[in-house]
Parts: sequence; structure tokens; C-alpha cells
Amino acid sequence: MPLIEVDEMDSHHRAKNVRERCVLREEVRRKLTSDQKNRRCIRCKEDKPEFNFVHTPSNFFPGHRSYICTSCLERMVAQDNLGEVDRLMRYLDLPFDLDKWTSLYAIHKDHTLTAYFNTLLDEHYSAL
Ligand SMILES: [Zn+2]
Repeated sequence: MPLIEVDEMDSHHRAKNVRERCVLREEVRRKLTSDQKNRRCIRCKEDKPEFNFVHTPSNFFPGHRSYICTSCLERMVAQDNLGEVDRLMRYLDLPFDLDKWTSLYAIHKDHTLTAYFNTLLDEHYSAL
């Protein structure tokens, strides 16, 4: 849809010079790619592809993605502290399966969050 709008905009500005239209096109393109492909983590301020931000069903997160990337979350939460992990899951409105967490932690240690989010994603897709 936005691409069609750009073309309509172009026809209205046909009298304007080519350079101006190119700038406009480039701005729209940059906005589209950044919206679709990348997000900025509010913690590390890095632009990262969307899969680095866990999907959440919570309406408190526009776009239904965490504001903080998973790498940062792994550094912020002590993953051997079940109370902290539980609090994070509540914040993200995600289920906290204690047995699953414990068995993943035995293998993944400080990267258990990534592993856990991946299993949630797998379950989500296999349920479809
Ligand atoms: Zn981050």
C-alpha cells in the first residue's frame, strides 16, 4: 500500500525536479525497511532484525515485540534465578514452564532465554 501512495505522490509532483523525488523515494524506502526489518533496542540502542526481539501477545508492546533485545535480556536477568525469570515472563505475557526452563538451563546456561523463546516459537508454529 505505501508504495502506491508514493507513486500517487509522484504524479502530483511531476513538475518538481527529479532530485527531489528521488530524495522522497529514498526516505520512504528507508522508513519501510526499518519498520519491517529492524528494531532499535532501547537498552543497547542497536538496530537489529526483528527476530532478536521476542514476540509477545501483550497489547502493551506495539508491534507485539519486546522493546529490549534478547541478548540484553539475557544479561539483565539472572537465568538461574527462577523468580526473576518468572517476573520477566509475566512482563512479556509469556508462559513460564518451570520444567522446560530447568532442562534448557542445564544445557544453555546464560543463553537459556534464547533457547526458551525458540521453543515457544516452535510450539506456536506447530499449533497452527
Ligand atoms: Zn539490546
